[in-house]
Amino acid sequence: MAEPLHKGEKVLRGIPVSTGVCRGKILVVGKPQHTIAKTQLSEAESLEEVNRLERALVQTRHEILEVQHKVSEAMGASEGSIFDAHLLVLEDRTLIDEVVRMITGEKVNAEYAFHQVAERYAKTLAAIEDDYLRERASDMRDVTGRVLNNLFGHPNDVDLRHLTEPCIVISHDLTPSNTAQMDRSKVVGFATDIGSKTSHTAIMARSLRIPAVVGLKSASQEIQTGQYALLDGFNGIIIVNPTDQTLFEYGQLIRKQVTLEEKLRDILSKPAVTLDGHRVFLSANIEQAADTQSVIESGAEGVGLFRTEYLYISRDHLPSEEEQYQAYRQVVTALKPNAVVIRTFDLGGDKFLSHLQVPTEMNPFLGWRAIRFCLQERDIFRNQLRAILRASAEGNVKMMYPMISGLDELNQANALVEDYKAQLRNEGVPFDEHMEIGAMIEIPSAALIADTLAKRVKFFSIGTNDLIQYSLAVDRMNEKIAHLYEPTHPAILRLIKATVDAARRNNIRVAVCGEMAGDPVMAPLLLGLGVDELSAAPPLVPQIKFMVRRIKTPEALALAEFALNCESGSEILARCQELAHQSAPSLFENVP
Ligand code: PEP
Ligand code: MG
Repeated sequence: MAEPLHKGEKVLRGIPVSTGVCRGKILVVGKPQHTIAKTQLSEAESLEEVNRLERALVQTRHEILEVQHKVSEAMGASEGSIFDAHLLVLEDRTLIDEVVRMITGEKVNAEYAFHQVAERYAKTLAAIEDDYLRERASDMRDVTGRVLNNLFGHPNDVDLRHLTEPCIVISHDLTPSNTAQMDRSKVVGFATDIGSKTSHTAIMARSLRIPAVVGLKSASQEIQTGQYALLDGFNGIIIVNPTDQTLFEYGQLIRKQVTLEEKLRDILSKPAVTLDGHRVFLSANIEQAADTQSVIESGAEGVGLFRTEYLYISRDHLPSEEEQYQAYRQVVTALKPNAVVIRTFDLGGDKFLSHLQVPTEMNPFLGWRAIRFCLQERDIFRNQLRAILRASAEGNVKMMYPMISGLDELNQANALVEDYKAQLRNEGVPFDEHMEIGAMIEIPSAALIADTLAKRVKFFSIGTNDLIQYSLAVDRMNEKIAHLYEPTHPAILRLIKATVDAARRNNIRVAVCGEMAGDPVMAPLLLGLGVDELSAAPPLVPQIKFMVRRIKTPEALALAEFALNCESGSEILARCQELAHQSAPSLFENVP
């Protein structure tokens, strides 16, 4: 815990991932750790306590049956049967009778009695040298957690679709699909114990404009549901029980933010040109068709990255070719004549498939992901490629493949596209014969063979989120090593430069669509390195334009030249900050 800003407050510091300040009641979701206090009851109270226990058991049973049903539908009956063991715990009369005897005999509260008895059973099972029985101990603890949550009135499963009042959600972790389900009117902010700036949960938060802090380590244990807090997404702080003085200070910060937003609104319809007239192409990253309006409102010139996998992960069935076509068509027609770059599915990594049977992997980011998955799951890939091709008849569609590591993958994917084009021609279905196809450069090997790839594609889009993770061997999700995740590391800049040089030699364009493109501090450096287009979450686009309109090309070129000759990532970062702060100080007034 960090120093309080003012006496009486509790301050927790993490990693700021989505800007904005919000206040509200806390809702801790997931698996909260309970402090199980013993409360002495009267005779009458103890009888009511038994009823309360029975109600919690019934509720828990319903929940487990529901989860079992969902899992069986999505993954098959054998996975669903895992929950039979959980149901057996609830039906174990020996255990339940013992809890009831303790409540009525010792006149104690149900939470305490249930925890005491269940934990004694679990410990006994865990101590036995038998794998099967040890497993039962973990079932016992799982069910105990659920029963206790119900007794305490805490929600068991993270379901953020049906919240009844506005709150700040705190959780140990939230998956990207949890985040995608958030109702913006009910979740005013959120915070997690783990995660980092480029985890997909953080990316979703920025798209949804929900202020968020991650990497708080133990917030979900230190903060309780119902407490009042302020979340500062600029500086990565949560302040529990903020004093009037803190609220006043934050009021000033919010006013500065409003002033900045007014300035950003003024340039919305103005072009992204540098002070010396160099035109920069700014586009937006989206996750779903519903984000289209925010692209238009951001002033972006189309979509530079459509993360189509969200069509999969926030649903419980695979979308058909037709469903995908409709989703792509909706975006493409709304943004016409601007381009929409549709990225083929990047499933895997932290974007799990709840409804497909994908084995758990030791290193999911290095595993069966993105183009690797699609080239093996041909039916899934065919539906998507046909849907994208069909949508290309409706507007300006470009397509790109994620996670290309070498030439074979690119050739295989391109060959499939040709097959489906032939199919569509035979069927008389229209598509754009000249739809541009690009490759994401997000694996170091791809950057190093960019010349080879450039001959077979029409554009590159550098995915710095993964490029940094793979080049520096720093898991983009892990808050413990977040300090090593360094966009200005000389190795990263050299890989970007190599990619740009290869693109120039082959006369193709280069975009950056990783989070680095949405950081106004990085924009001059990327432009100086020769990048043609920056694609960022819609809420970040106006800031990038603001920065572009305040710099001169020679400054950006000089910064890039300095960076390419500098040996230290932190010195490069300091130079980038210096130029950004000098050029557009109002963008940084909320950051200490
Ligand atoms: C990237 O890796 O930079 C990228 C844009 O793709 P994603 O964040 O979806 O992995
Ligand atoms: Mg990526």
